[in-house]
Amino acid sequence: MLRTHTCGELTIKDINKEVVLTGWVQRIRDKGGLIWIDLRDRYGITQLILEEGRTNTDTINIVRKLGREFVIKAKGTVIERISKNPKLTTGDIEIDLVEVSILNSSKTPPFTIEDETDGGEELRMKYRYLDLRRNPLKESLLLRHKLSLETRKYLDSLQFVEIETPYLIKSTPEGARDFIVPSRMNQGEFYALPQSPQTFKQLLMIAGYDRYYQLVKCFRDEDLRADRQPEFTQIDCEMSFVEQDDILDIFEGMIKYLFKTLKNIELDSFPRISYQEAMERYGSDKPDTRFGMEFIELNELAQNKGFKVFDDAELVVGINASGCSNYTRKQLDKLTDFVRRPQVGAKGLVYVKYNTDGTFKSSVDKFFDKETLKEWADKFNAKPGDLLLILSGEKEKVRKQMNELRLEMGNRLELRDSSHFKPLWVTDFPLLEWDEENNRYHAMHHPFTSPKQEDISLLETNPGKVRANAYDMVINGVEIGGGSIRIHDRELQKMMFKVLGFSDEEAQEQFGFLMNAFEYGAPPHGGIALGFDRLAALFAGKESIRDFIAFPKNNAGRDLMIDSPSAVSREQLDELGLTIKKN
Ligand code: ASP
Repeated sequence: MLRTHTCGELTIKDINKEVVLTGWVQRIRDKGGLIWIDLRDRYGITQLILEEGRTNTDTINIVRKLGREFVIKAKGTVIERISKNPKLTTGDIEIDLVEVSILNSSKTPPFTIEDETDGGEELRMKYRYLDLRRNPLKESLLLRHKLSLETRKYLDSLQFVEIETPYLIKSTPEGARDFIVPSRMNQGEFYALPQSPQTFKQLLMIAGYDRYYQLVKCFRDEDLRADRQPEFTQIDCEMSFVEQDDILDIFEGMIKYLFKTLKNIELDSFPRISYQEAMERYGSDKPDTRFGMEFIELNELAQNKGFKVFDDAELVVGINASGCSNYTRKQLDKLTDFVRRPQVGAKGLVYVKYNTDGTFKSSVDKFFDKETLKEWADKFNAKPGDLLLILSGEKEKVRKQMNELRLEMGNRLELRDSSHFKPLWVTDFPLLEWDEENNRYHAMHHPFTSPKQEDISLLETNPGKVRANAYDMVINGVEIGGGSIRIHDRELQKMMFKVLGFSDEEAQEQFGFLMNAFEYGAPPHGGIALGFDRLAALFAGKESIRDFIAFPKNNAGRDLMIDSPSAVSREQLDELGLTIKKN
């Protein structure tokens, strides 16, 4: 090694040691006779000191040529600092510099390499290797590393085997668009990059590897958001001879283990609620349960009293914004504007103030007397000082709108603290989802998910009502993962494809390999996949997954550093048989 120590390890115990450090120049302060250098590497910062008259002139001359981010090798003696810095592990010492050599110079970086940088997002993406030198990103990547290590330890201890599956596969429908890769050797044909290793892990179960996992890249050609990347990593798992609860127990155990080991947090056991219940109580299949404010349905107490808006509605539902009865006209107008935004889509908002003096003031005073408002308040468990917010309309729509309002109120009231963690399982998802545009059903999870035994008879008569053995793990309103018990019977899988609108031929052509495999002793099996980048972000209390990926893409799916995607040469296209021939 060129160094004897890292920049993060020397302390008062090392006084008088002769050491050699290497690293990047973070900062130089030249106060005439005295010069200090902050030398940085991955492990920390160590201060170097030189003094005119004491340090030899050659060394001083070299140091005066240094700039930010120069890479140097510094030799000297560890001495005690006069003014100590308790923020640094190395803050009690400094290195009395004897000799320095420049290992490489550096241009002035386009932004400061500090915890709070002056560089904009685009610039930092372009110079990602410089951004990665900053502590916040470094910490993200180190956290990610620990998370993957501990995940592997946990799964290994339970006999899970990590097996790699191919990246060049065949296009399979999992809900998103595939990235496709042209084949040179088979011109006119294409591979697809996997949206997940779903079919492969099922084949591994048929092959007898009854506990599989993989930290694996998945690829989905979707429009991007802060929490989405075209390539992302999953903790992908599959197990044989299990029922739903076995899978929930094992992966709940994994998350608890990770929280305990990485954050020293003991999580309570995860509540398990059905999709139906989640929709009724929170209007969302990924409820944020860090705060209550659960939905209260008011149909019985609010309909048939002459208020047409409520009378015509399929559902009248509200939340109790506790302690908000003092909201001003302006604040209430803002909330009304919020629910009226096209993204939320409500027509209006009804409020009832339960004033601290016990009186009521509502936006519907004309239609409802005090006694009725009191009945509502009781149903909400409201006390003086509370504010009821009520929406009405079509059941599904109004629940979604109320979910938005609930989350908004959670934000306003600062009830969504990123250092609190509230996990839960949402189970019994519908098997199918109706696609209005294309007039057909889609698999809500994926086509390999098994219907609940007791609902199978509905598959042909009332497919929309069939519930699946499918579950999601949700933490703080974020879907961390999802999975299902799979179909392992050829006939049932065939029926499922039929419901999804595949002809027998299409099903055989696309999924023959799996359905044929089901004929050779397929064990009952199921699994789950957890979003690994998301999990890392959650552990750090961050929303965007971007900082937990070393080299991410921007919102337009571009890598600004390597400038990709990019055009390829005519020759490459020719070779792939992709050139459009002119006649
Ligand atoms: N393959 C599924 C997904 O990527 C997860 C699973 O069912 O195991 O969402």
